[in-house]
Amino acid sequence: MFSKFRLALIASVITFSPAGLASASAEPLKVIASFSIIGDFAKNVGGDGVEVTTLVGPDGDAHVYEPKPADAVAMAGADVVLVNGLHFEGFLERLVETSGAKAQIVELTKGIEPLKMQEEEHGHEAEGEAHDAAAEAEEGHHHGDTDPHAFQSIANAKIYVKNIADAFCAADAERCDVYKANAEAYTQKLAATEDEVKAAVAAIPEDKRVIITSHDAFGYFEYEYGLTFLAPEGVSTEAEASAADVAALIRQVREDKASAIFVESITNARLAEQIATETGLKVGGTLYSDALSAADGPAPTYIDLMRHNIETIKGAVLGS
Ligand SMILES: [Zn+2]
Repeated sequence: MFSKFRLALIASVITFSPAGLASASAEPLKVIASFSIIGDFAKNVGGDGVEVTTLVGPDGDAHVYEPKPADAVAMAGADVVLVNGLHFEGFLERLVETSGAKAQIVELTKGIEPLKMQEEEHGHEAEGEAHDAAAEAEEGHHHGDTDPHAFQSIANAKIYVKNIADAFCAADAERCDVYKANAEAYTQKLAATEDEVKAAVAAIPEDKRVIITSHDAFGYFEYEYGLTFLAPEGVSTEAEASAADVAALIRQVREDKASAIFVESITNARLAEQIATETGLKVGGTLYSDALSAADGPAPTYIDLMRHNIETIKGAVLGS
């Protein structure tokens, strides 16, 4: 008798709830993430409420990505589009135009303090002024004057996550409480990871904190956690390092006594290997700068990426 009554009550609730609302909350929010790290953030904040499509996938290089026709189709049907901004996604403007996307494009670096490009610290004295002028003109033309890799600081990642929760709440008010709770839980995990990174850096002696990578992707990591990263390529992988850039870097490596050199998952290892050969430094492993690894790799999530990078650096610098 009781169970029959309950069933009837549930049936009447369903009947009387507005049909529009019921179907809206059943449909997942269609989210586009421009690259894999943002895709991971979006899944952590959105949970079951979202369906995430990532444009530049694992091991992909967002600086030089060429969109596929399927990307334009996905953009056109999206409810929310999440991007890094600061000219990280060179392909974005054209893709938004061709797709006719109606969704709001949310720049997740909103609210972070952008770092200026660190180009000028590299090899200025060693190179001719003509080269510097040309390099500056080129960089200015392609990338503006800020470093876009803000996600390499976990403090900034927390801001990305807050911006994602706000964007999801704006697009889907019904599930806002869930998004906020997910963001809060994930932010706590990020904070724990940040403590691990700081402890790992503290374990590296101060005179061994200079390391080499392929391109300038770790400016925010350097600023926040106190390692020094040198690179032959600038903040974009779009322009290849010149012979003069590489020669200047090799001189600087000798002066600054760099401890190790690393290849990056998104770039060709050849340049790092050449510098290793010429300086006698060993290649200390692979760092993940602008992309996650595939699911079966060492950095399938952002938290894995941070742990992998600092453990790889620590292992190479301290020597095992
Ligand atoms: Zn990059």
